Amino acid sequence: MPRPIAATIHMGALRHNLQRMREAANGRTLWAVVKANAYGHGLLRAARAFEAADGLAMIDLCDAQKVREQGWKKRILLLEGFFDATDIPLLEKYDIETIVHNRHMIELLKAQAPYASLKVHIKINSGMNRLGFLPQEEEEIRAQLQTIEGVQVMGVVTHFANAEPTYGHERPATVSIQLNRMDKIQPMPKNLCMANSAATLWQSDVKGDAVRAGVALYGVSPDSHYSSADLNIRPAMTLSAKILAIQNVPAGEAIGYGSRFVTHRDSRIAIVACGYADGYPRSTPDGTPTFVEGKIAPIAGAISMDMLTIDVTDIPEAQLGSEVELWGANISVNDVAKRCGTIGYELMCAIALRVPMLEDEN
Ligand SMILES: *Cc1c(COP(=O)(O)O)cnc(C)c1O
Repeated sequence: MPRPIAATIHMGALRHNLQRMREAANGRTLWAVVKANAYGHGLLRAARAFEAADGLAMIDLCDAQKVREQGWKKRILLLEGFFDATDIPLLEKYDIETIVHNRHMIELLKAQAPYASLKVHIKINSGMNRLGFLPQEEEEIRAQLQTIEGVQVMGVVTHFANAEPTYGHERPATVSIQLNRMDKIQPMPKNLCMANSAATLWQSDVKGDAVRAGVALYGVSPDSHYSSADLNIRPAMTLSAKILAIQNVPAGEAIGYGSRFVTHRDSRIAIVACGYADGYPRSTPDGTPTFVEGKIAPIAGAISMDMLTIDVTDIPEAQLGSEVELWGANISVNDVAKRCGTIGYELMCAIALRVPMLEDEN
């Protein structure tokens, strides 16, 4: 038997969320972002759930080949482009579209021309200051790309640093500042793709012809001030594990490494088969909620490698073998993440390989 822990992926939720983002995209092309093993949900599984998307967007060329070989017939986009000259023939062979974000990439493309058909998107840096050309360079870059025989410029992409609605209006890289910079590209390019999940959901000023939705497809709000229910999306991952042991601990005893949690009353402490080696963060503080037998049980004591401890003194129904939800429909991954000083994205994609992945139709 495997350890009693699992990440269960809800296919119905993935499909529902895709439909929801389809509505929010309002007629724009919908790229489903499946980087980082589909935010921890499993690449090929996500590709099946997202078959109604217009395309899949990802980072790794190997992943792109994998989904092609598994029968994905629609578009594929590499969000960071290719990393090496040897990648270029594979783009053509597998009909994979790539962004181009620097001049070195253009040189590499020139060196292997002509092509039958190599599809590229021009990445613009509109204020994020990671990848891309400045808006005022777009015309020249497009002209250069168009001189390469067989290269097709499919569109223009940019990315927002702060599309969440709770980001302050006076801050240095607002959506409107980035949009103003994009306006320098005249005429407005065809097949412009700007919005991530947050911009698709909340920024009606962000137009364009395509969106790239990631986190919301997995049922997690891009802004932790909003719940999944607020957005009518459903968490697609449940991380759960069983109670391995229950200790009746008198008041004044300490639990686990570092004796971080000290019982202030006679307590029932449940030991759960999930630890930081499964992807549950070691930085999780006491009091972080888990869900067992229909009730909230707080983390009590430092997270170990293979176990964690929760206080079930007030939940007599919690017994050996009871299932504990660490995150999912009842415990928001964003809530756990916030208490650890991070975001739900990081927790989902840090699910460890050793955690068995199950799938259901919910
Ligand atoms: C990850 C990513 C997205 C998706 O972002 P979400 O916030 O998960 O919707 C979109 N575009 C680019 C370039 C990305 O790297």
